[in-house]
Amino acid sequence: MKITRLEPFILHVPVTGNAIADSAQQVTHWGLVGTLVETDEGVTGCGYTGTLGFLPTDRLIRDCIADSFGPLLIGEDPRGVRRLWQKLADHPGIRWVGRAGITQMALSAVDVALWDIKAKAAGMPLWQLLGGTDSTRIEAYNTDGGWLNWSIDQLVADARISVERGFRGIKLKIGSAESRNQGPNDDLERIAAVREAIGPRVKLMVDANARWDLPTAVRFGRRFAEWDIFWFEEPLHCDDVSGHAALASAIETPIALGEQLYSVEAFTQFITAGAVHFIQPDATRLGGMTPAWQVAELASAHRLPVVAHAADMMQIHQHLAIAHPGNRMFEYIPWLRDCFEEPATVEAGIFQIPRSPGAGTTLKPSASKRFAVT
Ligand code: MG
Repeated sequence: MKITRLEPFILHVPVTGNAIADSAQQVTHWGLVGTLVETDEGVTGCGYTGTLGFLPTDRLIRDCIADSFGPLLIGEDPRGVRRLWQKLADHPGIRWVGRAGITQMALSAVDVALWDIKAKAAGMPLWQLLGGTDSTRIEAYNTDGGWLNWSIDQLVADARISVERGFRGIKLKIGSAESRNQGPNDDLERIAAVREAIGPRVKLMVDANARWDLPTAVRFGRRFAEWDIFWFEEPLHCDDVSGHAALASAIETPIALGEQLYSVEAFTQFITAGAVHFIQPDATRLGGMTPAWQVAELASAHRLPVVAHAADMMQIHQHLAIAHPGNRMFEYIPWLRDCFEEPATVEAGIFQIPRSPGAGTTLKPSASKRFAVT
């Protein structure tokens, strides 16, 4: 089998309720920047990364896929994805300017498309190709809620609905502008109200989206045990290893991070520094499923739980969650469900096992047409 052609794309898909906010960004659209990869045997793969829908940088990712990686892929057998990943990542001209950011997100899209082809060619869903079993039960926690631009009443009402729908965990965004400026704020009040609404048995996670400084994170983090917070996600700047290590030794609540890390080496630094407890690899940022699987293995080697991030809004990451034994729960964000032939699905709080061959990334033609940005 040989790669014959790449067809890059940019899609901008509106998010739930049309505008949601956390401490780092307000989002109206989710960007899918990726590529179809065609082969001489008629099998086509699809892979993409996730963006905030900012067209100037989306174009840079698309052009990197088309102009930098495309010529390196034509004529190669896509099923040799691990060595192909190395070839792309090690290319001197790309490595010189890359290793993080645009080139790594472009590499993510390509790698996922290759895994999609490999699984389709094998006639099995990717979780099966990766060694998973369909008796696996992955608990869903709801991230489609808890937004920072919602009132406390809205948060509480929505949290109650999540529990009624069967979710065993929910995530709450924290790190309001007031809290970051050391002023009066309602961040703890919001946590207390939601905990009271959902009762003691539902997991409650908080996410500061990397926006607090160390003193602020310590001050708030020391209170979290009162509400049995399951993890404190991205408390500090995403590259601050020593800050997270200091925080981890100052508070009781475990730390979760990884969605903004670009390499296996970055995860190694956080893990060996004792700066993280829940490992959140993101295949759409790290360079694809190839390094995301390595991170999951690294976490397991250190006896740390894996909780894949869902920047692709669940499609590729559900396969990691199902296949990797270090992963027991996974986040639910349904914004892109209508775009896919077989969208990730949760019933009674449990992820349903996808059955179609491939990586779950096959787009409906109608979605490709409707959300395409030219
Ligand atoms: Mg997060």
